[in-house]
Amino acid sequence: MIYFISIFIFFIAQAQDLEIPDQLKKPPMAENSILIADDKAVTPKSIILIIADGAGIGHYTLSYYANEKFSPSHFQHVGLVATHPNDGFKKVADSASSGTAIATGQKTYNGAISVNDRGEPIETILEIANRMGMSTGIVATSSVTHATPASFIAHIDSRKKEAEIARQMAKSNVDVIFGGGANFWSDDIQEILRDNNGQYITDIDESHNPSKRIVGLFNEGPMSSHSEGRSPTTTEMAKRALSILDNNTGGFFLMIEESQIDWGGHSNDPEYIKGEMQSLNDLIDMCLQYQLENQNVLVILTGDQESGGVAIHDGQEGNLDVQFTSDYHSANFVPIWASGPGAHFFDAMMDNTMIGKQLIKYVKNR
Ligand SMILES: [Zn+2]
Repeated sequence: MIYFISIFIFFIAQAQDLEIPDQLKKPPMAENSILIADDKAVTPKSIILIIADGAGIGHYTLSYYANEKFSPSHFQHVGLVATHPNDGFKKVADSASSGTAIATGQKTYNGAISVNDRGEPIETILEIANRMGMSTGIVATSSVTHATPASFIAHIDSRKKEAEIARQMAKSNVDVIFGGGANFWSDDIQEILRDNNGQYITDIDESHNPSKRIVGLFNEGPMSSHSEGRSPTTTEMAKRALSILDNNTGGFFLMIEESQIDWGGHSNDPEYIKGEMQSLNDLIDMCLQYQLENQNVLVILTGDQESGGVAIHDGQEGNLDVQFTSDYHSANFVPIWASGPGAHFFDAMMDNTMIGKQLIKYVKNR
């Protein structure tokens, strides 16, 4: 009997202690430190969408008590998002179906990259933005061919076909693609990129011909984690992407994925989550500073689904006892935060498809 109980406990609650620096052991006061109040009459000219893959309430709570700063409190609006796929009775999404919902405004099955359940391609917000004369880009700390970034560019029945996803990315009209995953970009695919007005770089500081599209891959596999010294950092990649995209007076759409918060959830590792949430805080600060200088930009932060079923409890001596209910995703709602023109819409409970639908509306009605 004890054997069965211990197995039960093992699967239900994986607890991990997270040490908290002394100066942070007394909880901060929740403070409202909004940087920009929006004007409801204005439609955004440009959009920055940050996807914190896997980040649910538990991950933000961990960050609130364990990181030196908590940058999401600078957003004016907060809502909640249901992330389920269109996949039988399933409530738990993967990054392909939930990425597709955000990128296209339509539900699909787990594993699908911007195709519907009949396998037909669904136009993504990047494709629509390109048609409307905007510049477009994606940044990810996973391989760029991984499910979330892939959903914004490629159309394919399975997220596992990453070489084909790279080929579609090489042929696409997307102006900036930064992240990891060079091992999916064979010489053949790099040639397809060059034939489609693209330049390939492996160093973030490499110069760029401004008339060309740019693909920058800075690691063979995924980027290193934040705590292992990711280089370039998520913020450095996003900054370079913004400096290229905002040359277009017609506006831009940039999706930046902090991909590895999700992997901290999968591996039930609070230190991993803490590091990635720190990277996210730095990214938010940079994006909101950019917004202060460019007030026609909408900045949104959300997750594609929750990862790890994370809950925060009191540990020993002011440390956090971080508990996990899964080494996969959960169906828990994820928060959405927004600031700038058009941000008030996200002050609500919504289905993840409503994010895509609304962003597409903004892109079409500028
Ligand atoms: Zn995941």
